[in-house]
Amino acid sequence: MQKINVKNKVLKKGEHYVTSDYKIRNNKRKNHNGIDMVGKNSSLDEIVAIANGEVINAKYHNLLGYYIEIKHANNYISRYQHLRSGSLKVKKGDKVNKGDILGYMGNTGHSFGAHLHFAILNDKRVFQDPLPYLLGFTNFNNDYFHKFVINIQKALNAKVDGYPGKETLSKTITISKNTNSRHPIVKYLQEYFYELGYTNIGKIDGIAGPKFTKVVTEFQKQNNIMADGIITKGNKTWQKILKLI
Ligand SMILES: [Zn+2]
Repeated sequence: MQKINVKNKVLKKGEHYVTSDYKIRNNKRKNHNGIDMVGKNSSLDEIVAIANGEVINAKYHNLLGYYIEIKHANNYISRYQHLRSGSLKVKKGDKVNKGDILGYMGNTGHSFGAHLHFAILNDKRVFQDPLPYLLGFTNFNNDYFHKFVINIQKALNAKVDGYPGKETLSKTITISKNTNSRHPIVKYLQEYFYELGYTNIGKIDGIAGPKFTKVVTEFQKQNNIMADGIITKGNKTWQKILKLI
């Protein structure tokens, strides 16, 4: 069970343990459109709103069980499934704030054991990976990532529009403890990794030292990239950072 260090809680108490990741697979196996998680207290865990918004659904569905959908900024929707029967604390039309209690974890609908299935849909109702939202790396205004990309583009003398693409990628440079270790970009990368939940990044000092290398190595391992602690476009680390893969 993977414990995640979240900034934006959906379980009020305790820690968030992921039992099944978001996976949109291209093969024949079934997709998993959200993240399954359990807390410390199973069906006693209170489920809370990830961000401010308006409840657009709070009802029963034979697969989703008792579920709640909240509409947020830019028409993003967060969805909370399998809540305990009779535990829903909100109804359609209610305005909620981040952290408000929605109900309790349960085992209703298509579910095998008490857990929360948490999903995020965009304005076209296409499922998104919820993890960056939980980690606080992305929000429904997408401000953080947008600003990060603008800073990176400026530092690379790439076209500055906040939307990374081939042009931005072509301007990326190698960052390691031996190459460009004091480039202005290092500070933005340190902040980026911190936002991603790598709180062991150390001081945000703009120097790619041993802690930086260690975090890059961890990031690479978690993303199935050759773990050498060096950020290059060749080893796909830049593509992953800029969400191009
Ligand atoms: Zn699930």
